[in-house]
Parts: sequence; C-alpha cells; structure tokens
Amino acid sequence: MPKYIFVTGGVVSSLGKGITSASIGKLLESRGLKVSLIKCDPYINVDPGTMNPYQHGEVYVTDDGAETDLDLGHYERFTNAVLTKDNNITTGKVYYSVISKERKGDYLGKTVQIIPHITDEIKDGIEKAAGNQKIDVVIVEIGGTVGDIEGLPFLEAIRQLRLEKGKDYAINIHVTLIPYIKSAGEIKTKPTQHSVGTLREIGIIPDIIVCRTERPISKEAKDKIALFCNVDSEAVIPAIDVENIYEVPVCFKKEGLDKLIIRLLNLKCKDNDLADWENTVLKRLKQPSSAVEIAVVGKYITLQDAYKSIYEALVHGGIANDTKLIIRKIDSEDIEKCGAKKCLEGVYGILVPGGFGSRGIEGKIKAIQYARENKIPYFGLCLGMQAAVIEFARNACGLRSANSTEFGRKIKYPVISLLEEQKHIDDKGATMRLGAYKCMIKKDTKAYKAYKKAVIYERHRHRYEFNNKYKDILEKHGMVFSGIHPKGSLVEIVELKGHPWFVACQFHPEFKSKPEKGHPLFKDFIKAALAK
Ligand code: GLN
Repeated sequence: MPKYIFVTGGVVSSLGKGITSASIGKLLESRGLKVSLIKCDPYINVDPGTMNPYQHGEVYVTDDGAETDLDLGHYERFTNAVLTKDNNITTGKVYYSVISKERKGDYLGKTVQIIPHITDEIKDGIEKAAGNQKIDVVIVEIGGTVGDIEGLPFLEAIRQLRLEKGKDYAINIHVTLIPYIKSAGEIKTKPTQHSVGTLREIGIIPDIIVCRTERPISKEAKDKIALFCNVDSEAVIPAIDVENIYEVPVCFKKEGLDKLIIRLLNLKCKDNDLADWENTVLKRLKQPSSAVEIAVVGKYITLQDAYKSIYEALVHGGIANDTKLIIRKIDSEDIEKCGAKKCLEGVYGILVPGGFGSRGIEGKIKAIQYARENKIPYFGLCLGMQAAVIEFARNACGLRSANSTEFGRKIKYPVISLLEEQKHIDDKGATMRLGAYKCMIKKDTKAYKAYKKAVIYERHRHRYEFNNKYKDILEKHGMVFSGIHPKGSLVEIVELKGHPWFVACQFHPEFKSKPEKGHPLFKDFIKAALAK
C-alpha cells in the first residue's frame, strides 16, 4: 500500500505548491523510493483544455492525451513519475462521474450528496492514480488556498483518507507565506497561524509547515510558528526565495525536509543523493560558459505561465550546451506594428510556440520569414510549424494567399487544414488530436541528427494538420518533410534545405524535456544558436 503526502496551501495562491510537491518527489526518488504525484483542482471545468491561457496558463499534455494542469509539468520535469489522466482530478471530473452514475441508477435510490458521494469519488480517484504501479509514496497536491469554498470537498476527502490510512501512512504538509513587512523590518507569522487555524477547523492538522519567505526565518520565529501551529520546531521548513526553481530540492534537503518525511511515514530507504542534479543542472545554471539570446514570439507573452514548459525546455537546452539562456519575449502583434527587424535584431534563435486563433498570426509569419531569410536558427512548435508552412508557401513557393483554414473560410491555398474526422466535431473539450503519436524520422535530416533514431513518440494538442496536397510543391522549393506519422502520412516535422537550422514540428516536444536530459530538438536548436 502506498503512503500519502497531502500538500495544501494557505494565505495566498502562487506559493509554489507545485514546485514544493515536485521537489519532495525528487528528494524521495533520490532515496530510491518510487513516487507518483496527483494534482487536485477545485475548478468546475472537467479539464483545463477549454480554458484561455490568461485564465489558466499552459495546458500540459500527458502521453495518454490528457489536458492537465501545468503543475503536472513540474512533476514530470523533477521526477520520473509516469503521469496519466488519472493524475489530475478536478471538481468538474468528479461531478461528471458522480452525475453519470446517478443517471445510471448506481446509487440505488439514495440522495446523492457531497459527503459521502463526492468525497468518495475524490478518494477513489486519489487511490486509483497509483494504479497497479508499485508506488511507495503518492504526493497529492490540493490546488487553491485553504478557505476557498470550492476546495472544501477535497480537504474533507484528504481528512478522511488520513484518518483511514493511519498515522504512518499519511501526512499533511501545509505551504504558507511568511510575509516581510518592510516598514516594520520584520517577518510576520500571523497569516500562517490563521491559515493553520482554518485547516484545524475542518479537522486537518498539518505535520509539517513549509514557509515561503523572502527573508530568513529566525529560530525565535520558527519556535513561534511551531508553538501556534502545533508542530515541532524542526517541522517548520523555511522555503526562502531562490533564483532558480531547480535549487528547491537542494534547499529542502538542507532543511532536512525529506529526513523528517521519512521518519513521519516510517519509510525504509537509502540516504538522499542529489550529486548529479547539483553537479550538472545547478552548476551549469549558476556558472555557464556562455550565454545566448533566443526570441520567443507568441501572443501570451505577458503571462509567465502561458509558455511554461517551453521556457523550461529552453533552459534545459541551455544546460545541455552549458550556456545561459536569455529569453527575449516578443508579442507577435508588436511585429505586426513595428516590423520583424526592429523586434528581432540581435537574437541568435527564434522560436514560435503553439497557439489558437488568428490574433497575432501575421506577426509570427513575419518572424519566421525573418528567421528564414536571415539564416537565424528557427524552431517552430505546433502552430509554429503551421505558420512556417504558410510562410514558405507564400514567400518561397509563390502561393501568395496560402493560409490555414483556422484563419478564414475561403482560402485559395489551404496548406493547413482540418482532417475529415475533425470536420464534424462540435464539442470543444478533449476533441483535438491529443497525446503521444508515433513519428518516423527520415535519415540524413536535422531531426534524425537530433534524435539519433528512426522512431519517436511525441505529444500532440491540435486540430489542424499539414495538407498533403501541397507536399510536392513545397518539397520542390526546398522544404524537407523529415517526420511522418505512418497512419495517413500526417506531417510531423518539417525543415529547410540550405538553412543552418530550421526545424518545426506539429507536436509539443517541450512536454518531454527534463533538466538533466534536455530534449534533443531543444538541445540542437540551442547548439545551432550558439554556432551562429
Ligand atoms: N491552432 C492550431 C491547431 O489547432 C495549433 C494548435 C497548437 O499550437 N497547439 O491545429
């Protein structure tokens, strides 16, 4: 039976519960334990797939095609846990299932209620996620902040689980904020006391308090938090702001967090070992031998979370090349207004990420034209591939009005279009081409050089595809179709002859990059940028 760590958050949102959970996972894995992680999201959407990036940030996609919360990205980057649709539980999903069961008559005439039916559904979901894998520890992060109305059923479910599992089998970790009041020159513990008080009212007693803080926490402050929050002083773990998220596991190790968890959960395991992580990831992040500036041209540039996995994968590509990544974030609408040269001059590589809808598309196409004509390394992801195809068709093949059918009705040269099977779909949720698909890679291409293998699997999230009617003409003008999905010959990767590095893919490689093992395409993109 796996053991459970329940992670809740108090005082404010955006405290880094996801990074905290992922870091605990990393530390436990370094002790030889097998971990899994679950994110519970109290919103009523069934999944974040239908949400605007401004609302939610990036939608992270798993191998099995689930559209999930971006914290699952942190979990997969920090640990080796294999995550599926079962690892993200939302209120929407829970109610959907309960209401479907009710319609089928599964509740045998009973009144269906939040307790026990909704809470049981949450509990079943949490236990199901570990599945048949031999997991030692499941880390369950509850999204939102303690005190939110919509989070209550989740908190009640973990309260019951802790009770049912028993002391050695489940612990609660509460992540809070210890604000620093500048004018008073001191940190304040009161919000944490209140937050723990609120938790206690609903029957949850934290075993460990992780304190996000910008200033160090003195012994006195720690003792005070311990006293008022009913934990040992050693269970008050400071989480001081760090420059890079990948330092967090090392900070927690120094504070003895994993040691304490091991003791509380009575786990038998070896000592922790983060030597590789420290010697490669952290050392290269802190003392890189060079620096390279890459432009990311998107339309959700003001929001840090919208392209989370892409920024991280770029950093990983930097680590792999022992170089510091400087990211110039450019709003594609600025390119429409000011021109590509003004916005992009001086960068060593240009990346166009995925996206939906026509806003900003012409700016992206201009950025790609600038990369192609000036021989600047270009990396296109999903919409970034579709836009590269449109640009090439228009400006290199003379198909002046080429476009994607996503952006207009009567398009003369629909170089990107919907597959027949997508044309009749009305529902928006979970109906795109989602998850891992096979891709065959052509030898003697940049893609092959990067992957060094002929068959790969990458994750997708899109509706539109390259239109194979235009393959011959684009090929004739120098486009190489280097990756193909065997069923229906769907184009997965395109590149350009006679360009130092111009590679664009229909899938999202950013979801499979890890700090210790940068994704091959990101690695080679940064390498090409450095060569420039
Ligand atoms: N909007 C495009 C499509 O649906 C691209 C999607 C994406 O970039 N994720 O095909």
